[in-house]
Amino acid sequence: MTNPIGAKVIAQALHDLGVTVIFGLVGLPVTDIAEQAIDLGIRFIGFRNEQAASYAASAYGYLTGTPGICLLVGGPGVIHGMAGIANASANAWPALFLGGSSETYLWAKGGFQEMDAISLLTPHTKRAIRPHLNSAEAIVSAIQDAFRVCWYGRPGPTFVDLPTDFIMSPVRSTAARPPAVMPPPRAAATAETIAAATHLLQTASAPLVIIGKGAAYARAEQKIRALVDDCNLPFLPTPMGKGVMPDSHALNTSSARSVALRDADVVLLLGARLNWILHFAATPKYRKDVKIIQVDIAPEELGRSNSNGDPAMSIFGDIGIVVQQLNEALKGWRAFSNPSLGTTASTYLSKLRDGAAKNERKARLAATAETVPGTPLTFERAFHIIKETLHSISAPSNGEVVYIGEGSQTMDISRSIFPLEHPRQKLDAGTYATMGVGLAYCIAAWSAYNLPKRQKKVVALEGDSALGFAAMEIETMRRHDMDVLIFCMNNSGIYHGDTADTAEWKQMQKGLLDQSSPAERGKRLQSSSLLHEARYEQLAEMVGGRGIFVRTEQELEKAAREGYVEDRVTVVNVIIEPGVGKSISFAWQQAKEKAKM
Ligand code: ADP
Ligand code: MG
Repeated sequence: MTNPIGAKVIAQALHDLGVTVIFGLVGLPVTDIAEQAIDLGIRFIGFRNEQAASYAASAYGYLTGTPGICLLVGGPGVIHGMAGIANASANAWPALFLGGSSETYLWAKGGFQEMDAISLLTPHTKRAIRPHLNSAEAIVSAIQDAFRVCWYGRPGPTFVDLPTDFIMSPVRSTAARPPAVMPPPRAAATAETIAAATHLLQTASAPLVIIGKGAAYARAEQKIRALVDDCNLPFLPTPMGKGVMPDSHALNTSSARSVALRDADVVLLLGARLNWILHFAATPKYRKDVKIIQVDIAPEELGRSNSNGDPAMSIFGDIGIVVQQLNEALKGWRAFSNPSLGTTASTYLSKLRDGAAKNERKARLAATAETVPGTPLTFERAFHIIKETLHSISAPSNGEVVYIGEGSQTMDISRSIFPLEHPRQKLDAGTYATMGVGLAYCIAAWSAYNLPKRQKKVVALEGDSALGFAAMEIETMRRHDMDVLIFCMNNSGIYHGDTADTAEWKQMQKGLLDQSSPAERGKRLQSSSLLHEARYEQLAEMVGGRGIFVRTEQELEKAAREGYVEDRVTVVNVIIEPGVGKSISFAWQQAKEKAKM
């Protein structure tokens, strides 16, 4: 029997690890790996740029709870894929990246696409390795090791460097055992920490549970639902923690987010870092003396301080197990039921209610104000129409829609408009605030939920700028028969878009500004400007998908209705009023905070 080529051994190892989907982009020397994988029944999703492939692999890892796999050619391919490696690292998502590299015997001679990927990626991955020789055992062992390491502990990216001669030539032995990696071990908390946390919660007058995407990744929704319900605890999801608890739940404080954070005296933090998303647990967003009970599987994440410098009470363990332990310890106790708390508790609850009512009133106003005929739609109004239409086809409780959202205005404004009743059904720019992930995430979500059987509709809300980062992946969607529905929220630019002046407003209303460029009009070209009314829907038409151009409420309603049931990729290009909306710039938020102090 002749020895197999390395490509076959690599594909077989992935198959033996249970891999069913590989994201990537082929070229020398990794094409054979993809071909061998396809022969083994693995679906290879070939992208148009490694950047999108790398984003997709990590999001797939998050959604499925098992490592996503990404195959990259060497040198420039790995460099493009670094975007997804950094993104996986920032979001703590499990993904194994396999990259080709030049022949070992040509190193330092200027080999084809030669690059020292191991040195480059070591600081950005949990592990970056190369099989020590071209034997089946060494190759399989490196892949197995990297697969395990990206998955165990806090998830993240790992990398295996595969030299051309290892891939393309027969490898030394065939006696490699099929690799086996068990699902990651899960740790429980110690009895003392559970007792201490229980005591803290029971003496809180204004408790709050913050639910992060770690809780969604941990699949702890049932335990968390029991905790919130049995103990009557108000909760606040982070953007991707949404849906672990249904948004419709009475104890959801999302509409009163700032009040909930500012007034809570004890915070139970489940799977979220105290980073910029949660304002570093610092004043004035939080009480100076807020007590934090932090649950995480990454010990180095624990013990962060509040503004007083008091470290959080650290519970090292798996959220599902720890919350179950808390449920047992807190049995029979309900928050706000202790009369000795006096009025503090009831003040907190009524502040939450008032805050929510005020914000909901504002949001309702923006969503329900009908568009004046002849003027463009606003984000709020457009999202409201999309939401109402989609809900009239499939109620949120069905959980049939997975939302992807990106683009600063698009993501920020849509977040509170589309309620989620189920976990892991919303992906956005995430911890790294990465723009350009949207179409890759659509492909990841579609693959996670619709292979081998179609179960969910993937709906993307993309800013016109965000869409542009990886627009060619619409071809990938069509090629793989993915019925993704993409709304391009087209305000002619990045965040507020191209700010129109009065003269332009008049022209716009007469339809005279169609597809004109600010430069053409002799206007100062702003850094945030993009072409006016670019016909992004034609990206779908180009590949035999469906494209719909929308300016009015009626057109949008019809497009949403038809797009939802369309069985091929659909782009609805929604013209939005440019030059309005709020800035979410972090510096700006901080300046505003300072001014308030
Ligand atoms: P968010 O974006 O929602 O704020 P982060 O990504 O900042 O969330 O935080 C998620 C946290 O969840 C990470 O610190 C990660 O280590 C942690 N985590 C992931 N899985 C688990 C788990 N099974 N149990 C406990 N913590 C987890
Ligand atoms: Mg825009």
